[in-house]
Amino acid sequence: MVKKVKWDPGHGGSDPGAVGNALLEKVLTHKIVGYAMDYLEANFTGFTQSTTRGGDQTLSLTQRTDQANKEGADVFVSVHINAGGGKGFESFIYNGSISSATQAFQNTLHAEVMAAMRKDGVTSDRGKKRANFAVLRQTKMVACLTENLFIDTSDANFLKKEAFLKAVGEAHARGVAKFLGLPVKKSKPAAPKTSSSTTGSLYKVQVGAFAERANADRLAAELKAKGYPVHIVKQ
Ligand SMILES: [Zn+2]
Repeated sequence: MVKKVKWDPGHGGSDPGAVGNALLEKVLTHKIVGYAMDYLEANFTGFTQSTTRGGDQTLSLTQRTDQANKEGADVFVSVHINAGGGKGFESFIYNGSISSATQAFQNTLHAEVMAAMRKDGVTSDRGKKRANFAVLRQTKMVACLTENLFIDTSDANFLKKEAFLKAVGEAHARGVAKFLGLPVKKSKPAAPKTSSSTTGSLYKVQVGAFAERANADRLAAELKAKGYPVHIVKQ
């Protein structure tokens, strides 16, 4: 049974979320979710995933939870950055009636993210909490909301590091994978090949399909960066 994962970058569009230290919550949460999705895609199978907003769009809380409910998502993860003074990481599940699976998911996700943050020097674990948040109340599936440090305190020094955001995103992905029991991808993509004896698994970037060779090169580089074997075919 293919599992459905719904990622919810906490803010977007005209709603920047929390702001502080020249950082916008919506930018940070989009990055964390992007890293989470890349990592899940690269390392696990048996799932589909999507976000509540593809880009920097303004969507209401209800629009986002409606999507997840309509699609029959198995798990909903809302990613946020805290504000208002404080330090550390905390996670939330609904404070009304919830399934034991929801509690199990919070335990797994919280442990993964906190472990990744500790590796990078974060010391404050604010705990596993419960609250009456709309995205938790209105979602019919297992749902958890994470508050990944504070944008308006010295925590921002962590949030300014791209490698930190990547580690936090990847930890979210591991939490989801562990909870859902997603199978690990058996074979990683082969190293880029240069010989002409390559087969169907190879991603061919056709120069003729692009206005400029530079575009083809750029696409090839992007695919390579994602671990796909690529070579450029001239038409
Ligand atoms: Zn938020």
